[in-house]
Amino acid sequence: MPFDLSKIIRPNIVNLSPYSSARDEYSGSGSILLDANENPFNDPVNRYPDPMQRNLKAKISDLLGTPPNHIFLGNGSDEAIDLLIRAFCVPSVSNIITIDPTYGMYEVSAATNDIPLIRVSLNADFSLNANALLNAVNLNTRIIMLCSPNNPTANLLDRGEMLRIARNFNGLLVVDEAYIDFSGNNGLLEDLSAFPNLVLLRTFSKAWGLAGIRLGMAIASDEIIKILSKIKYPYNINRLTQEYALKTIADPSKKEKWVKTIIEERQNLESELDKLPFLLKRYPSDANFILARFSNAKEVYNFLREKGLIVRDRSKVLLCDNCLRITVGAPNENRLLLHELKNSPF
Ligand SMILES: *Cc1c(COP(=O)(O)O)cnc(C)c1O
Repeated sequence: MPFDLSKIIRPNIVNLSPYSSARDEYSGSGSILLDANENPFNDPVNRYPDPMQRNLKAKISDLLGTPPNHIFLGNGSDEAIDLLIRAFCVPSVSNIITIDPTYGMYEVSAATNDIPLIRVSLNADFSLNANALLNAVNLNTRIIMLCSPNNPTANLLDRGEMLRIARNFNGLLVVDEAYIDFSGNNGLLEDLSAFPNLVLLRTFSKAWGLAGIRLGMAIASDEIIKILSKIKYPYNINRLTQEYALKTIADPSKKEKWVKTIIEERQNLESELDKLPFLLKRYPSDANFILARFSNAKEVYNFLREKGLIVRDRSKVLLCDNCLRITVGAPNENRLLLHELKNSPF
């Protein structure tokens, strides 16, 4: 059965007509703007931002090599996750399948929308078992959410396994690629044209160093992007964010340098962590963080916290017994972390 988007979109979303803003009806320049009840003073922030983010999307399109009509921009990836659920999942009827462990936001967004979330465990080595996910699908499954590289396990998921899900599932396969820049891998960008049910999530929060401006994106077919755009808040990306993002992506060399440094630092952290006698296992990382199992995670966590070093305790998470998640910091921060760990009483 070929994928049919019209079969999975919520009927109320098909039927609604979107809010039409003044700037949707008119977008030109050099005129006197008396159409949006804005304050004429306090230029330029007195003006509403471009609801369709045309300039920014054009630049991101160049960057990714993806046409602008395949890009949705959100107030963080968080917004894209929420809108995908709202557009395609009927509260208390539809369900979502995701991997376990993974990013906590999928569960929060699903619960907010009263959508049951079915969790399917990764294999013990954190690899993806496509069959296990496909076996969990029922008639009400609308979305399968994956995360590659996955948080908190740090590994890329196998492309063949992910595409097997896309091929054999009649709902949306959403793959969160927030950490893809640190993986040396292009992710599934080139597979989008072959899979009309594939949605990729990317973000400016990690490699681009822009977590504070809240800018994330969904990349998918023109039809899916149109649906998300129809139900978003009209001015979801504020003017300051659009301008700051434009300024930052005008020079991608800075981001590339940051990514290179972070990967080098990750490699150094990995080899130094491996020398600690109380480290039981250090997992390979395709991201900007390292997941490691200690003989005494809670004690290590508390010890570091006393020294003002905050890492993430993931020891209560499935398959992550006694594991801490450590973000790769700046070189001096990583040196300090290693210094404290090497001089710890453990
Ligand atoms: C950090 C992170 C994000 C980023 O979310 P934003 O809302 O874009 O800041 C997305 N997905 C995962 C898995 C993350 O860890």
